[in-house]
Amino acid sequence: MNKPASVPEQFDAVVVGAGFSGLYMLYRLRQLGLSVKVLDSAGDVGGTWYWNRYPGARCDIPTTDYTYSFDPELEKEWTWSEKYATQPEILEYLRFAADRLGLRPDIEFSVTVTSARWDEPEKRWTITTDGGQEIRCRYYIMATGCLSMPKSPDIEGAGRFAGRVYLTSRWPHEGADFTGQRVAVIGTGSSGIQSIPLIARQARRLTVFQRTPNFSIPAHNGPAPADRLERLAEDRDEYRDAARWSRGGVPIDPTDILGGTASEAVRRERFEAAWEQGELFGILNVFADQGVNPAANDIVAEMIREKIRSIVTDPGIAEALCPKDHYFGTKRPCLDTGYFETYDLPHVQLVDLRKQPIVSITEEGIETADESFGFDAIVYATGFDAMTGALVAADAAGRDGVSLKEKWAAGPSTYLGLMTTGFPNFFMLTGPGSPSVLSNMTVSIEQHVDWVAGCLENMRDEGLETIEPTALAEAGWNQHVQDCAAITLHPTANSWYMGANVPGKPRVFLPYIGGVNAYRQACDEVAAQGYLGFRLTGPGEDRCRDGVIRRMQPDVAMVLEFMAAAGMPPLETLSAADARALLAVTAEARPPGPEVGEVTDGVIPGPSGHLPYRLYRPAGPSEGLRPLVMYFHGGGWVLGNLDSDDPLCRDLCARSGAVVVSVNYRHAPEVRFPAAALDAFAAVQWADANAIELGGIPGQLAVAGWSAGANVAAVACQLARGAEGPHISGQLLVCPVVDSDMTRPSYTENGDGYILTTALMRWFWDHYADPADRGDPRAAPLHGNLEGLPEACIVTADFDPLRDEGVAYARALEAAGVPVRLVRARGHTHTSVTMVGVVISGAPVRAEIGEALGDFFPAP
Ligand code: NAP
Repeated sequence: MNKPASVPEQFDAVVVGAGFSGLYMLYRLRQLGLSVKVLDSAGDVGGTWYWNRYPGARCDIPTTDYTYSFDPELEKEWTWSEKYATQPEILEYLRFAADRLGLRPDIEFSVTVTSARWDEPEKRWTITTDGGQEIRCRYYIMATGCLSMPKSPDIEGAGRFAGRVYLTSRWPHEGADFTGQRVAVIGTGSSGIQSIPLIARQARRLTVFQRTPNFSIPAHNGPAPADRLERLAEDRDEYRDAARWSRGGVPIDPTDILGGTASEAVRRERFEAAWEQGELFGILNVFADQGVNPAANDIVAEMIREKIRSIVTDPGIAEALCPKDHYFGTKRPCLDTGYFETYDLPHVQLVDLRKQPIVSITEEGIETADESFGFDAIVYATGFDAMTGALVAADAAGRDGVSLKEKWAAGPSTYLGLMTTGFPNFFMLTGPGSPSVLSNMTVSIEQHVDWVAGCLENMRDEGLETIEPTALAEAGWNQHVQDCAAITLHPTANSWYMGANVPGKPRVFLPYIGGVNAYRQACDEVAAQGYLGFRLTGPGEDRCRDGVIRRMQPDVAMVLEFMAAAGMPPLETLSAADARALLAVTAEARPPGPEVGEVTDGVIPGPSGHLPYRLYRPAGPSEGLRPLVMYFHGGGWVLGNLDSDDPLCRDLCARSGAVVVSVNYRHAPEVRFPAAALDAFAAVQWADANAIELGGIPGQLAVAGWSAGANVAAVACQLARGAEGPHISGQLLVCPVVDSDMTRPSYTENGDGYILTTALMRWFWDHYADPADRGDPRAAPLHGNLEGLPEACIVTADFDPLRDEGVAYARALEAAGVPVRLVRARGHTHTSVTMVGVVISGAPVRAEIGEALGDFFPAP
C-alpha cells in the first residue's frame, strides 16, 4: 500500500518496526489514546523472526522467559512447545499476539522509511517512505531491533558467484533445498552454528569457512525446563517480577563462588551442571568473577575447549574449533544442537581462514590462499551491523538538520539508550547504551516500552510537547556505560558488541552491561526525579532538571551495597579497640595484592621507642638499588597498621619499581597529636640515613600516604624543609587530610553514605588533636608555609568529604610554586582507590599514581 499522498498523514506517533518491541509499543500507545502508525519493511509482523528463517533458527533464551509478560491472559492462551522454540513457532506467536490484541489495522507492511526530519517550529517529525509517502507525527519511535541490519558481505568478489547465494538474515520464504549440493557456509557465529548441522544433513558436501572459532554449549533442547514451569505455575507474577529485577532478565541465583579460589571439585561440579543445563545465563554464572577476572574466565574457557576436544575425533580439527583469541562470554556464546559433532561427518570440511584466508569469491566458488573450491550455493552467516545499523540507516535528522549518522560518527551517544540530544521526541527501543542484547530481549523491550509510555502519559497530563535529553545527562550516561564495560573483559574482544565486526565502525562498547536490574532502577529514578537530565517544553513551559543519574564507578557502588547489606556498625559508634578489631577482620577477606620481589619486616628507632616497618622490594635483581618511598597508612591516626594497607603497598611497589617502606607510626587516642607526624618525620630521616641498607638509592627518597597517612606524609615534607633535610623528591598524597575545616562543599555532598563520613572524620579528629591544635600546620598542613616543598601528586576522589581540601592543597602548593599533578579519581570514594583487587576501576588511577611516583625520580 505505497500510495503517494499529497497531504501528509498525521499521527501522534509513528513506530518503525513490528517485531516484539513495535507491537507492544503500539499496544501501549493505543492504551494512551494516541493515534499511531507502525511501519515495517517486512511483509508481516515478526521483526527479526520474520527475516531470520534459516534452518535451525531458534531463540537462545528459554521460551518460558522469551515471551511477553504484560498480559496474563495472553500468557494463558499460548503454550510453547519446546525449551527453545523454532523461528516458525516464535513468528506464529507474534502473529497470534498481533491478532489477539487487534494490532494489525495500525500496521503498514512492505514500507521502508527512507528519512525523517524534525520540524522545530511545528514540533513534529516528517517521515518519508520508499513509496513516496509523507507522514507527520509528534513522537517518532524506533523499534528497529538490535540485530536487523545485515552486514554487507565484505569479501572480495562477493557479487561474482554464479550459484545460489543465501544470507541467514534474509532467508527465502520458500526455504532452500541443498540436497545433493556442494555448499559453503561463511561464518561461525550463532547463525552459522545453528544452521550448519541442518545444512549438513542435506548437502552432498559442506565446507565451513571459519575465521574465528566460537564458544558454544549444547542447548539440550526438549520440553520447557521443569523448574521454571513449576515456579511459573506457583506464582507467575513473582516469577516475572524476579526476571525484571534480575541481572539478565531471566531469574537465576547469581553465584558468589570465585573461580580463582574455588576447589577443583567445585569448579568441575559447577561447570558440568551448567553444561548439562544448556542455558546461556547458566554458563555465564559458573563463577561470580568469570566476566572480570582473566584467571577465572580461563578455567571455564578451558573446560569448554576440553569438551570440544572430546567431541571432535580429529585432533587437528578439534583444535581449530577451540576458541583461544577471546575470553569466554566477551563474544556472544552460542547454544547448539550437534554443532561440533557435525565435523565428524565425512562430507563436512572445516577451512580455517586464519591459516588460509579467502582471496576471492569466484564465479564457481571460493578461492583461498591455498585452494580453490567449487560450490553450488554459498551461505553467508556473517552477522549484522549491530545496534546502530538500523537506526542510522533510517536517516533521521534532528533539530539542526544533523543526522544520526553524523552525530554518531565517533560512536553512538544516548541517554539511557532511549533518546539522544538534538533529536526531540525521538525514542529508541533497546538502543545502544541499554542492556538490550546482553539481556533477555523481551524483558528489556517491555521495560523500555513501559518507560516510554509512562513518559508520554506524563507529558500528556502535564500539557508538554517535547522531550530531549541534555548534553550533560547524555555525556554522563555514555561515561557510565563505558565505565561498566571497562571493569569487565568485554572490551578486549573483537566482537560486534564493540562494533569490531564492521570495518570502519567506531570501537565502543555498545550495550549497557550494568544489568537489567540496575538499569531499570536508573530509568525509574530518572522519571521519579522529574525526568532528571531531560528538557521538557510545552506552551509557555520550558523545564529542565539537569544532572547525571550515575556518577559513581559501578564496582564502587557494588562495594557500598555489599557493605550496607553486611550491616557493619558505623566505626564512630565503637571504641578505638573495637574499630581496630573490626577492620582487622574485614582485611582478612581481601585479595592479597600483587606479588612483589620480597617483603621483610623490621623496626625503626623512633623519637620514643621503635616503630615497626614493612619493606617491599620490587621483583627483579635483588642487588640493584632503587628509589625509596616511605609510605604511611590511612586510618584517621587511630586505626591501621602494617597489614591494613598491605595490598596497596604491594601495588605501589609493583607499579613504581621503587622500594616501598610502610611505617607504623604511633596512634591516637593512646598517643595524640603531634606524635604521628613526628614519627613520620623521624622515619623519613632514618630512611635517608640508611638508604643503602634498605636497598634505596641515596638522595632518591619520596613520601607517600593515604588519608591520615597522607597527612603525616605532607607534614613530614614541611618538617624536612624546615629542618633543611633530608631531601625529599616527591610527595604522593592519596585523599589527604590537610585541614580540619568541615565546611567545604565536599563535606556537605559526601558527608554521609560513602564509608568515610563527617561523623567518622570528627571522631578521628577528636581522638587525635585538641581543637586548639587543629590549626597547627603539623595537624593541618594546608595552614603551613608551602614554599620550597617537594613536587606533589595529589589524588582526590569525587565521593570523598576530603575531596575539596585535597584540591585546596593542590592549588595552594601550585600558588607557592610547587609542581603538582592532581589526579581526580572519577566516581570513587575515599577508600575505593585503595581497594586493590576488589575495585577494578581503581586500577587506572593507581597506574597513574605509580607513574607519578616514578616521575619523582630521575630516569634510571
Ligand atoms: P556474528 O555473531 O557476528 O557471526 C558472524 C560470523 O561471520 C563470525 O564467525 C564472523 O567471524 C564471520 N564473518 C564475518 N565477516 C566475515 C568475513 N568477511 N570473512 C569471514 N568470516 C566472516 O553473526 P550471527 O551469527 O548472525 O549472530 C549475531 C547475533 O545474533 C548473535 O550473537 C546473537 O546475539 C544473535 N543471534 C541469536 C540467535 C539465537 O540463538 N537466538 C541466532 C542467531 C543470531 P569473526 O568472528 O572473525 O568476525
